[in-house]
Amino acid sequence: MDIPRKERRVPSGRPAAAPWWAPGRDGRADVLLGEVGDLYHHHYGLGPYDPSVLDEPPETRDQRIVDELHRLETAQADALLDRLGDIRPEDRLLDAGSGRGGTSFMAHERFGCRVDGVSLSDHQVDFSNHQSLERGCRGQVCFHHRNMLNTGFPDGFYRAVWTNETTMYVELTALFSEFSRLLPLGGRYVCVTGCANDAHGRRSPAVARIDHHYICGVHSRGDYFQALAASGLAPAEVVDLTPQAIPYWELRAHSPVRTGIEEAFLTAYAEGGFQYLLIAADRV
Ligand code: SAM
Repeated sequence: MDIPRKERRVPSGRPAAAPWWAPGRDGRADVLLGEVGDLYHHHYGLGPYDPSVLDEPPETRDQRIVDELHRLETAQADALLDRLGDIRPEDRLLDAGSGRGGTSFMAHERFGCRVDGVSLSDHQVDFSNHQSLERGCRGQVCFHHRNMLNTGFPDGFYRAVWTNETTMYVELTALFSEFSRLLPLGGRYVCVTGCANDAHGRRSPAVARIDHHYICGVHSRGDYFQALAASGLAPAEVVDLTPQAIPYWELRAHSPVRTGIEEAFLTAYAEGGFQYLLIAADRV
């Protein structure tokens, strides 16, 4: 499945090949992990894991590992939300590429404000809107089947916008130009993403394996800053989360939800050719 990078990007509609989140393809891992605490994440985790989970007896070991992975994924979303700034209940937030809505629900619980999520996957949108109903926040947390490159929401509508592991599916200049339009002056954009480390030199084969596995196109670190600057988004904080990201992959490699891609992530991080980055930028 060797799809040229450009064709994998989504200029204005659906991707050329069915991505991993298409019905029947999205990760058994994410669904299993979401069943823990009823919060569904389609992103990776941050922070150290409790090593005692690996010493559990066989009958409880798998579940303890799954619980621990879920805890680290929730910690990752908390790290993103920590960077949104001073959000008030009357503000409005956008989760661009919202998956099954885990980060959106956490944002609503933390800030008490209205959150919109957009996803290209209609079954994810149905799933997360159903979760909104079950959680009793249907009027406050709403998911829409829309393209984040062209959301149709009004100019300056959002106090803050975030992308949690979604930027590798689209072209960055088009994406950041849309976010710049959606934010008022001083509005905040937060991005958490894996990126190729262009200071490392040649693109690592392990990064190519990640692209191939997820049918995406990992951008380089430099691409992010060029595209942000071109859209009037000025970085206020940049954090290399790589050291905090590695334990998650080590634990996942021992888990019942491993998919085989764990080794590519661990290799790419260890070689220095790949980084897990958080960027918080202001609309200027
Ligand atoms: N942000 C979510 C999370 O942290 O759980 C989901 C991340 S998942 C890796 C990538 C998401 O990006 C999927 O929900 C997919 O539908 C969405 N996506 C990719 N391209 C998109 C686009 N052009 N417009 C809207 N959503 C998109």
